[in-house]
Amino acid sequence: MTDVKIRSKHLATTAVHAGEPDPRVGGAVVAPIFQSANFEYGGESEYHALRYLRLNNTPSHDVVAAKLAALEGGEAALITASGMAAISTALLAVLAPGGHLLVQGTLYGGTHDFLTADLVNFGMTYTVIDVDDATSWEEAVTPATRAVYVEAMSNPLLEVGDLAAVPEFARKHGLVSLIDSTFPSPVNFRPVEHGFDLVLHSATKYLNGHSDIVAGAVVGRTDLVREVRHRLNHLGGSLDPHACFLLQRGLKTLPVRVAYQNESALRVAAWLEGHPVVARVNYPGLASHPRHARASELFDGFGGMLSFELKGGRPAAERFIEQAVLPVSAPSLGGVETLLTLPATTSHLGMDPAERRRAGISDGLIRVSVGLETTQDLIEDFEQALDSAGAAGV
Ligand code: PLP
Repeated sequence: MTDVKIRSKHLATTAVHAGEPDPRVGGAVVAPIFQSANFEYGGESEYHALRYLRLNNTPSHDVVAAKLAALEGGEAALITASGMAAISTALLAVLAPGGHLLVQGTLYGGTHDFLTADLVNFGMTYTVIDVDDATSWEEAVTPATRAVYVEAMSNPLLEVGDLAAVPEFARKHGLVSLIDSTFPSPVNFRPVEHGFDLVLHSATKYLNGHSDIVAGAVVGRTDLVREVRHRLNHLGGSLDPHACFLLQRGLKTLPVRVAYQNESALRVAAWLEGHPVVARVNYPGLASHPRHARASELFDGFGGMLSFELKGGRPAAERFIEQAVLPVSAPSLGGVETLLTLPATTSHLGMDPAERRRAGISDGLIRVSVGLETTQDLIEDFEQALDSAGAAGV
C-alpha cells in the first residue's frame, strides 16, 4: 500500500494529499490511471501478492485505498467493484458456514436481499435486533454468533441506532462489528474512532459523489481487511483502473461537497417542516427528530439525505415529483444533482406493503438526496412544486 504520509487532523487536507504516489509518477500532479491487467513479476512468494488487477493491488487501487484509510482513520482499506461487493464479501469473510449474524431491522434493500436470498443458502443464519435498544441484544447472541452488522443511518427514515454501544457489545461477546457508513461518509462519522472493526461503503454515493461509477470499500483492522481482500480476490469483484481514478478524484472533494450538503439539507429540511402541506420531515439535524440528541453526539454533520410526507399522501407526492424542475427523479444518492424518489416504488418495492407500512415507510414518503445546487434555488423550486402538490392533495 502507498505510504500515508499525510494524516492531517483536517479532512479536507487529507482528502487532497493522503495516499498520493511518492515520488510522483513522471512528475504528474495527478496520479495516473494504470491501465494494465498484469505487472512484471517481482519475486513475490505468495499468490495474493502477485501484481494483477483482480488481486486488488495495482497502483490504481493503492492510491484510493490509502486515501480512504486516512479519511476513515482506519489501518487498511480495500476498494471493491460495488457497495454490494464490499458488503457481501465482508460478510462471507467474517461468517464461516454455520456462522450467525446479528443484524439491524431496516436495512438497505440489496443487503436485505443478500441475507434472505443468499447468505442463508451458504449455511449462515441471522437474527434481527432492535438497534435502538442495546439492552435487547444479549438475548439474540448464540454460541454460533460471529458478527454484528448495522447501518449508520437507516434508509429512507434516517433513524439513528445506538451505534456507540455496538463495538463495546461486540468486544464483550468476541464478535466482529461491521457498519455500513455510506450515508454519513467519513466527513460526518468515522466509525473506527468509536471502535468498529470494519466500515463498509457504497462508494457509488458520497465517496465518488458524481453519479458516474459504481464502487465500494471496506476499511478497518488490517487483519480483517486482509481476510476480506483474499475472499474478494477469489470472488473477483475488483474495481477497474478507470473507475479507481474517478473515485480517487471524487474523494479529493468529498469534505467540501459533504459540508455544503450538510448545510443545504438542514436548510431544506427546516423549510419543509414549516410548510403547511408537509405532514412530517425525517432529518436527524432537526430538533423534532426522535434521535436528534444521539445524532448530534455521534455526527459532525447530519448529511444530505432527508425524507418527508405530504398531507395529501401518495397523489400529492407524485404531483410534487412531477412538478419539481431541478431534481431528477432517480434512485441512488450522494451525487452533485438533487434526486427524488418514492421508496415505496423504488428501493423498498420488494418489501411486503404491509411490512413496509409497519416499518414507517408510507406509500407517499418522498426521499431527497440533496445535491450541490444553490439552496435557495432548490427551496424556490420545491415551493412551486408543493403549491401544485398541495392544490392536488390537501
Ligand atoms: N449501502 C447503502 C446504504 C446503499 O444505499 C447502497 C446502494 O444504494 C448500497 C449499500 C449498495 O451499493 P452499490 O449500489 O454501490 O452496490
